Amino acid sequence: MPAPLAIDGGTPVRSTLLPYGRQSVSDEDIAAVTEVLRSDWLTTGPKVKEFEQAFAAFCGTKEAVAVNSGTAALHAAAFALGIGKGDEVIVPGMTFAATANAVVFQGGTPVFVDSDPETLLIDPACVERAITKETKAIIAVDYAGQPADYAALSHIATKNKIALIADACHAIGGTDGERKVGSLADLSTFSFHPVKPMTTGEGGMITTDNADYAVSMRRFRNHSLTSEHRERHEARSWFYEMHELGYNYRLTDFQSALGMSQLKNVLQWNERRRKIAKKYDEAFAKIPAIRPLAVRKGVTHAYHLYVVRIDPEQLRVGRKEIFQALSAENIGVNVHYIPAHMHPFYKKHFGTKPGLCPVAEAAYERMLSLPIFASMSDKDADDVIEAVRKVCAFYAR
Ligand SMILES: *Cc1c(COP(=O)(O)O)cnc(C)c1O
Repeated sequence: MPAPLAIDGGTPVRSTLLPYGRQSVSDEDIAAVTEVLRSDWLTTGPKVKEFEQAFAAFCGTKEAVAVNSGTAALHAAAFALGIGKGDEVIVPGMTFAATANAVVFQGGTPVFVDSDPETLLIDPACVERAITKETKAIIAVDYAGQPADYAALSHIATKNKIALIADACHAIGGTDGERKVGSLADLSTFSFHPVKPMTTGEGGMITTDNADYAVSMRRFRNHSLTSEHRERHEARSWFYEMHELGYNYRLTDFQSALGMSQLKNVLQWNERRRKIAKKYDEAFAKIPAIRPLAVRKGVTHAYHLYVVRIDPEQLRVGRKEIFQALSAENIGVNVHYIPAHMHPFYKKHFGTKPGLCPVAEAAYERMLSLPIFASMSDKDADDVIEAVRKVCAFYAR
């Protein structure tokens, strides 16, 4: 007899909830923040520049531009490329809505394409088929934390004279061969939301080797003014002008200090995530109902997410029931993502329909994200495995 599930009144595998993601914040991080809080500059001060320089060095790029979210980073990248009305930008259906929204903010049209069925990364063959005269850019997403196939995507971008953006919000610290995430596309965007590999509370960054893009994005984050507050302060000047529409997307100095402190640990944290992922891979190899995603050869995966698909042939119930049963066992499962083109907004305003990205849509119906974060213990990971085993055994066909 399989053990009674917590959802049916049995004892849960854990007595407290294990979240799917959680930040790590040390005393050193807190000290770095409080030091800035006692200084003269809370925003537009020297820490922002220091964080940008440290981040550019980390990614091996000439420039890094700090903003106040990953969404703002995507918007700034679309602005730098001059995306506007009538322009098409190719994005994967399998992503968080913000990837596509950034195109819409600029008046452009997101064109959704499908993913590779093994990795759920944007499929270069689908990208190639979606190119038209109006295509201005491709935004690839490093889904779950592994870099997309930038060799193939760069080839397509160059051949068609269009730009390539990497939405690298999941993948800081990852690599593709010898090359680092952040340096794999014309512009790469990052998010520092607490569930992402490193955090500033809210925050984001764009990396690029193009100095003109960097100048344009630094203005864009500050209402597109021709000078920043501190520049005017230092020049004893009051003058500025606004030539284009801009936003307030500034990251504060205390967030920048937190970011710099976090950046020192992110590679070590990713190493821990990979250890947990390996433990999961080994355990799930013995559970036929659970299918982890494939990892591309030669990449270092940042494992922002650990995504599995359930095999409906092996189970009497669907994803919803597995999700609910694992939640009741106090395992913080999640789903990433409802494909972006399936949101009512896109259906209503861009006429997207089910069937547009069949691989992404089918994956969505079966997928679960299991807890993974750097401060998880081996015992936490064992609990996840035990709960998955228990639930799959109970619902086995
Ligand atoms: C988190 C995330 C974003 C948005 O980042 P925020 O900092 O939350 O604005 C964009 N794209 C992807 C793929 C993300 O995971």
